[in-house]
Amino acid sequence: MASTKKADVDAVVIGAGFAGLGMLYRLREQLGLSVQVFETGDDVGGTWYWNRYPGARCDSESYIYCFSFSDELLQDWNWSGKYPEQPEILSYLQHVADRFDLRRNIQFETRVTAAHYLEDDNLWRVETNLGEVVHARFLISGIGCISTGNVPDIPGRDSFKGDSFHTGAWPHDGVDFAGKRVAVIGTGSSGVQSIPVIAEQAGHLTVFQRTAQYTIPARHGTVDRRFLDEEVKPNYTELLEKARRSAGGIPVDFSERLALEVSDEERNAIYEAGWREGGHRFIFGSFRDIMANLDANHTASEFIRNKIRETVKDPNLVAKLVPTDHPLGSKRALIDTNYFETYNRDNVALVDLKTDPIECITETGIRTASGEFDVDIIVFATGFDAMTGSFFKMDIQGRDGARLKDDWSEGPKSYLGLQVHKYPNLFMITGPGSPSVLSNMPVSIEQHIEWIGDLIAHMRDEELDVVEAQAGAQAEWVTHVNDVASQTLYMHANSWYLGANIPGKPRVFMPYAGGVGAYRAHCEAIVDDGYRGFTLGRPAAQVASEHAAGG
Ligand SMILES: Cc1cc2nc3c(=O)[nH]c(=O)nc-3n(C[C@H](O)[C@H](O)[C@H](O)COP(=O)(O)OP(=O)(O)OC[C@H]3O[C@@H](n4cnc5c(N)ncnc54)[C@H](O)[C@@H]3O)c2cc1C
Repeated sequence: MASTKKADVDAVVIGAGFAGLGMLYRLREQLGLSVQVFETGDDVGGTWYWNRYPGARCDSESYIYCFSFSDELLQDWNWSGKYPEQPEILSYLQHVADRFDLRRNIQFETRVTAAHYLEDDNLWRVETNLGEVVHARFLISGIGCISTGNVPDIPGRDSFKGDSFHTGAWPHDGVDFAGKRVAVIGTGSSGVQSIPVIAEQAGHLTVFQRTAQYTIPARHGTVDRRFLDEEVKPNYTELLEKARRSAGGIPVDFSERLALEVSDEERNAIYEAGWREGGHRFIFGSFRDIMANLDANHTASEFIRNKIRETVKDPNLVAKLVPTDHPLGSKRALIDTNYFETYNRDNVALVDLKTDPIECITETGIRTASGEFDVDIIVFATGFDAMTGSFFKMDIQGRDGARLKDDWSEGPKSYLGLQVHKYPNLFMITGPGSPSVLSNMPVSIEQHIEWIGDLIAHMRDEELDVVEAQAGAQAEWVTHVNDVASQTLYMHANSWYLGANIPGKPRVFMPYAGGVGAYRAHCEAIVDDGYRGFTLGRPAAQVASEHAAGG
């Protein structure tokens, strides 16, 4: 059948966080394409628009948690926080949107509800919650890996008469905790960040903990201006290149030392120094094998357990707070400010859900096996339906009636986390199967933006209209992603990387654990091999109709 519809725009991009903003800039300013961005929120920012809970901040150091596409932007912007707080990152992304005039192509308060590939037209038909329909040649997802909040389906949840909030959908005008009895459910990243701040504001705080955590003091402070002016800004090119080739997207060297090859005293002194310095340096600056070898890891895990024992005064609380069921680093690495110290406050209590599980939420609070906790406010710091949750909120259909929800029912399958077989011209920025959440994300987001932009430019130069991941290449990549994950410590914990926080979600390790630099090298080699594993061409329907017309 001949092509009947025309594209309204060259590309639809979904989301206006780091990914959507960067992709819009690349497509519009560097490739000259027409672009429509849709964003659910009423402003740019993504994660940093939604997560406004007290204490929300980034665990990546600010100087490397940023865009690199504009040298002027890198030089002009001055971070104030070493680990920037949510308002500062939001201001940064708003500044980027203003500076590059990005808002004019973004339609806010608009959620994409469906995207269907029309094979005869080689177009994506994109539909929004407002009933609008836009046809585009390319569809690019910048929907975020952790953008769909998970509020557990606890019996009686809706009967609660007080206020309740998920950390990832925090009210813009804040929450007044003064004098209130507050419950925080969850001690992952958002819980660890918010608990110390809420404890200072609330009348009383009860923390409901499922998993005891390892967390390292961030030693947050204002950014060291000398470091920024003398070491970072003149050397951004080298630093960024180092980050791009690194394991985790940050420009640091892992220590060459091995934890088991030094004496106990020396090892302890090195951990102490790392603990004093704080942040992720505790891991990468100490020993090379902490994240690779369980025995080495045990020494670091035990060091932190001892720090908890030293910090928390009440032995009953120590018993609950010391993590024993997973090694350090097998879940998302956490850094904190006064997390364990908070449990020494008189107005803070801890419920260990392993021994005292929640039975239900009542009109007045939370009932566990041991009793009732009356509260005025419940904070769900319960994380996200990561990596696939936001995809499944849309009805995405590819060729031959393929549905993404069905194709991913046993876990996400992709080629490089960039494309999915049967979904031509659909690209994912930091999709499952790429380093994504195991990276300092702007580095990985920009790599995908550049890669996708280069491919679209290549297609334009070669007069090619359609690109699709091949089934075989995808299957090989999925196997590789699983093989790499199976050799890591990540398989020693029930984490959200594995979907373990969502009842019924398949247990599949979703990100690529081979490292940011190694992943980048894979992507580059595939391009050098003529986009190995991708079929590039002109749409079959168009070629057939030209043949029929004698073209
Ligand atoms: C509390 C928290 C702390 C974090 N800390 C770090 C850190 O220390 N270091 C780090 O590297 N990363 C961190 N991250 C990860 C963070 O998500 C990324 O760094 C980065 O912000 C992701 O950008 P993004 O544009 O890919 O996705 P997001 O910022 O999540 O933006 C996606 C946007 O897409 C929109 N969207 C989704 N679906 C639709 C739809 N159907 N229609 C329209 N719009 C849609 C959403 O509304 C959202 O605004 C953190 C995340 C959280 C939640």
